[in-house]
Amino acid sequence: MVTLSTPIEYIKGIGPVKADVLKKELNIFTAHDLITHYPFRYIDRTKFYNIKDVSADLPNIQLKGKFISIEIVGNKKSKRLSAIFSDGTGTIELVWFKGYQWLHTKFNTKSEYVIFGKPSLYGSKHNITHPEVNEFNDDYVKTLSAYQPVYNSTEKLKQKGLDSEGLRRIIKQYVGQIKEFDVPEFHSPDFINQHKLVSHFSALINIHIPSSEQALAAALLRLKFDELFFVQLKLLKGYKHRVNHTTGFVFKKVGPLFTELFEKYLPFELTVAQKRVLKEIRSDLGKGKQMSRLVQGDVGSGKTIVAALTMLLALDNGFQSCLMAPTEILAQQHFQTISKLFASINIEVALLTGSTKEKQKKNILEKLLSNDIKIIIGTHALIEDSVKFNCLGLAIIDEQHRFGVAQRSKLQTKNTTHPHVLVMTATPIPRTLAMTLYGDLDVSVIDELPPGRKPISTVHYFESHRLRLYGFLREQIEIGRQIYVVYPLIEESEKMDYQNLQQGYDNLLNEFPLPIFQISILHGRLTPLQKEYEMERFAKAQTQIMVATTVIEVGVNVPNASVMVIESAEKFGLSQLHQLRGRVGRGAEQSYCILMTGNKLSTDARLRMKTMVQTNDGFEISEADLKLRGPGDIQGTQQSGIMDLKLSDLAKDATILNKARNAAFDILDADPELALASNLEYAKIIASKNSVFNWNRVG
Ligand code: ADP
Ligand code: MG
Repeated sequence: MVTLSTPIEYIKGIGPVKADVLKKELNIFTAHDLITHYPFRYIDRTKFYNIKDVSADLPNIQLKGKFISIEIVGNKKSKRLSAIFSDGTGTIELVWFKGYQWLHTKFNTKSEYVIFGKPSLYGSKHNITHPEVNEFNDDYVKTLSAYQPVYNSTEKLKQKGLDSEGLRRIIKQYVGQIKEFDVPEFHSPDFINQHKLVSHFSALINIHIPSSEQALAAALLRLKFDELFFVQLKLLKGYKHRVNHTTGFVFKKVGPLFTELFEKYLPFELTVAQKRVLKEIRSDLGKGKQMSRLVQGDVGSGKTIVAALTMLLALDNGFQSCLMAPTEILAQQHFQTISKLFASINIEVALLTGSTKEKQKKNILEKLLSNDIKIIIGTHALIEDSVKFNCLGLAIIDEQHRFGVAQRSKLQTKNTTHPHVLVMTATPIPRTLAMTLYGDLDVSVIDELPPGRKPISTVHYFESHRLRLYGFLREQIEIGRQIYVVYPLIEESEKMDYQNLQQGYDNLLNEFPLPIFQISILHGRLTPLQKEYEMERFAKAQTQIMVATTVIEVGVNVPNASVMVIESAEKFGLSQLHQLRGRVGRGAEQSYCILMTGNKLSTDARLRMKTMVQTNDGFEISEADLKLRGPGDIQGTQQSGIMDLKLSDLAKDATILNKARNAAFDILDADPELALASNLEYAKIIASKNSVFNWNRVG
């Protein structure tokens, strides 16, 4: 008997050798893994192509006709079976390099055959090598499906006969054997009715062997719904638990420090959006529950001041707070901004990063423990085990999309009662993605830029416009502006990228010679001290141009810099381009972003440039990004586990996601801990380690 937990070597048609590659190549260990290796598309095998319409860019196609000739040709090395096949609209050559002796005797020129294979161009003619050939008769026709599944395979699997076709045969054979009672049905009949789902069993059968278009659609709906439902159930259960059960510190009062800074020393009036978000935060902090709030706000919307003021709320109520940033430069910069701000009310701020000197670090650690440091800013260094607080009441994570979920939870454990958590992100993400990535957080949005900002004007220049670019830069420098020139840094070709950066720097030195012009250079190979020095020179306007890699991508804030030149812009993704552009447009001056690309661009790259030129709106850009690249490439998704989604496409399945999320809410409203007998199966599934989709391995 085979069940879903049967190891694959015991499934008919597999055996130890194939099992071995399946495990190594596709992580398929059990029948369940095999059956959840879903097809990625379907071919209509009831349709036949006309030979006259064949072209090499078609995938596998199906032809019907007769052999005109079948002969073994070629000399020893290139010996092969060559058959000319005709369907009345034209002829095409079919070629076999293997097994041809036998095939030669098998085919005849009288019967009608069905050919299935991938056409390619050989010289000026099309041919198909090693096609599948079947005699066309009533029995065979019955086996042809309008939805023949196509599976992902790999080179190594193909060598063992497990190309898409091989996989299809094995899976089909197996699917034919499983019985309804082998497949767990974790939803109740009522639930299934209510959400108009088909049974799990039916879905698994029909995703592989659809009986009709409707059956396939229903199978897809059920399986996608389940994927999204369990993600939401897990996230929302965590959310409810936090809201209902955890206690949090109560920050009752708005104290003297907050009030003094707010009333006397704010460098600007807060925007309406900033005020609203602060209010939302204050309401969280008074509830006696742990706050877990995400502040989303486009680049330049002014998240730092919100963070700073929240830290004062903590301080006024007797608690320590920390702010973690993803890069050394950004931590530095926050440290400077916030120290300066807090100096006005005599509050000291500490900085802890990877490059803090041992002795100083020891001193900081001691003072954190003794509560002599109340406010600390830093990098990942803050989550090291050696960092212990006296009474951490608030943890803020800036540019959260650069961190993993694990790092967020690590900060929480720095006090026995979980400190309040505020995460900030400048990467606006589409709603569907936010619901999946941050579904367990409350969300605030700063949807307004500080007043007086002019929209950044973005242009796309080809390499051939370089002289015009230099002319423009010179004009801008003359009127006192500063300029970023950013080069891509991609790990695989790191060495070459540094060469490009150096080359670009040298070219700029030629165009903008010393001593009239000063140019800074900033990249990952500099020591933290060098970086700090270069950054400072630029921030103080001692240099006019900053040549850099994407180390400046997040957070960096030099309001007088109003021109961003992005070299080889085609190498960047949309969200990265938007982040980089966000480095300018921070002052009152008109700002510019210039995307430099080579003359030849792929369709995707062209679309990215077009999107950037057309809009400054981070949300619009992230929607476009999701459509162009899929969620897997959007920053932050890799660590989140949403890559486990096998079928759902967050760019397209928003409706199913909403349904699934609402269904999860309903279940949890009635039974927040999933303790009812009817929900035990759900509880088990979402408790299973790592992935909520491994329902078969539960228990
Ligand atoms: P981000 O949201 O990208 O982190 P920042 O906090 O770095 O943005 O703020 C961007 C710039 O806008 C900074 O120079 C900051 O001083 C300024 N700023 C923030 N809020 C306001 C405001 N309400 N009015 C004027 N300028 C502001
Ligand atoms: Mg910021």
